[in-house]
Amino acid sequence: MLTFVGEGYSPAFTANYRRIAERLSAGEEIEIVHGPDDICAPLLADADAHCFRQSVETRDQLAASDVGALLGMAIVEGLVIRPDAAFLAKLREGFSKHSVRGACSGCEWSSLCDRIATEGFDGVLVGPARLTRPETARETSARRMG
Ligand code: SF4
Repeated sequence: MLTFVGEGYSPAFTANYRRIAERLSAGEEIEIVHGPDDICAPLLADADAHCFRQSVETRDQLAASDVGALLGMAIVEGLVIRPDAAFLAKLREGFSKHSVRGACSGCEWSSLCDRIATEGFDGVLVGPARLTRPETARETSARRMG
C-alpha cells in the first residue's frame, strides 16, 4: 500500500489495485482480514495462487508485527484503520527507516520499493499526493542553520 505506483502481477491486478487506491485515498477505512484480501482478489482464480502459501502467511505476520510495534497497537483481524495523512506519514517514516520492512526480505519488489522510499514516495497512488516525506537529519540541520 505504501509503495504502490501502478506496478503489479498482471493488468487485472493493477487495475483492481488502482480502484482500491482511489478509495483509500478518498478516506475509505481498511479492515484487517486474515488471508487474501480485496487487493489479492484478481489472483485467486489461479489454482497456483501464491496468496495461500505459508511464505505469504509468514510475511503477513511479520508485517503485522512490525506495523503494530510502530503504531503501538495489535494489528489483528477485524481491526479497522482509517488511512489518513497522519497514519500514512508515520508508516512512510517507519518504512524509510526500515522498521517495518521485516516482511520485505526476499521479496522480488524490494529494489522498486527501496527506490520509491528513497525518492520520498513520489508517485505512490495511496494517500494524499502532497503528503510530505519525513525530513532527513541533514535537512533539519540545514533548516536550523537558516
Ligand atoms: S518489498 Fe515487497 S513486501 Fe516489502 S513493501 Fe515492497 S512489495 Fe511489499
